[in-house]
Amino acid sequence: MQTQLADFIKDTPEGREAEAILRACVHCGFCTATCPTYQLLGDELDGPRGRIYLIKQLLEGHDVTEKTRLHLDRCLTCRSCESTCPSGVHYSRLADIGRHIIEQRVPRSGAEAAKRWALREFVPRADVFGIAMKAGRAVRGLLPAALKEKVPDARPSGPWPKPRHARRMIALAGCAQPAMAPSINAATARVLDAVGVSLVEQPGAGCCGAVRFHLNDQEGGRDDARRNIDAWWPAVERGEVEAIVMTASGCGVQVKDYGHLLAQDPAYAEKAARISAMTRDVSEIVAAEGEKLQELLRTRRGEAVAVAFQSPCTLQHGQQIRGVVESLLTTAGFTLTPVRDGHLCCGSAGTYSLLQPELSKQLRANKLAALGEGGATMIASANIGCMTHLQAGTTTPVRHWVELVDSRLNGFPL
Ligand code: SF4
Ligand code: SF4
Repeated sequence: MQTQLADFIKDTPEGREAEAILRACVHCGFCTATCPTYQLLGDELDGPRGRIYLIKQLLEGHDVTEKTRLHLDRCLTCRSCESTCPSGVHYSRLADIGRHIIEQRVPRSGAEAAKRWALREFVPRADVFGIAMKAGRAVRGLLPAALKEKVPDARPSGPWPKPRHARRMIALAGCAQPAMAPSINAATARVLDAVGVSLVEQPGAGCCGAVRFHLNDQEGGRDDARRNIDAWWPAVERGEVEAIVMTASGCGVQVKDYGHLLAQDPAYAEKAARISAMTRDVSEIVAAEGEKLQELLRTRRGEAVAVAFQSPCTLQHGQQIRGVVESLLTTAGFTLTPVRDGHLCCGSAGTYSLLQPELSKQLRANKLAALGEGGATMIASANIGCMTHLQAGTTTPVRHWVELVDSRLNGFPL
């Protein structure tokens, strides 16, 4: 696509990156068919090709309005379009650049600005989020429906094995997950302990930065990344840990991108690239220990459970990890049911479910219908945001897949 970027952006790193992405797009429209918002709204401007065109206009200095911003707001950043695109167009990076600029050109006001400010300020703070979650559980019945569904029931997390192996890895605790489902990292620690790896959480690390970054506080998101790097770096530098393990695929896609996000920061560029290179989704770690896992599970088969796996967009499109979790669940003796349109987003998408509730609910209803078609009695996922969002719309239990493997391996109840 031919572009003539405006002076304000053309000689900047963002401008050069945006121009390369725009040039790669041949306008074929293959991506449109797999875009969830295009499928729901039927408007070219609510699909990837239309949004690319809108961002091109923005970067060329043309007038943009609240309508332009709305079409970009409706994008889930699910990256289904990237998986489909035959030309390798890195849409999500272009969207980040476009959103950052439109936020300045068409600023928000009133309730919309206040809502985004509150999400940016409170969600990434694990301590504040933890207190809010406890308070929310205490007064759950009094909360408005939109908030009530963000407060999952508390479940016991079980023991965290003491570090006893020479092989060590760091787990990201994150911001929302420790308060919503501490059982996920504890189950991961038990599964990894069983295959000979001790998992530790490093004090000082917190939110991966995705919340603030995707609410257009991009510098705030980078600060979160720097704080995590500072917390992890001493153990990494001393060679004490093999990997940084992500149990939420939404965080994984962000941390794997630290190298790119901090590439212009001379103090952090090298460290960020190393951290990204050693970051793995927990499924990649467990799959690498597949033989040990298989051996351990040989004598620990439980009752047959039919499971539908919802592969989060951040896992299958963001990290391009497909089929790995499905294979691990099969190894653990679960029966996987087929899931129609598995490439489509469930509507959670970080804070999207709070900012675009109507579209989010439609996508959830569609996803739950698809997940239920094979008769599953359990839904598995790989991201806390998707889990909470889906659970609010169904009585079928929704669990992280690693909790299912842990239940087979260690007998911990689901
Ligand atoms: S599929 Fe790729 S090249 Fe074709 S319109 Fe979409 S982004 Fe552009
Ligand atoms: S990221 Fe998802 S919602 Fe956004 S344009 Fe691409 S496919 Fe559509």
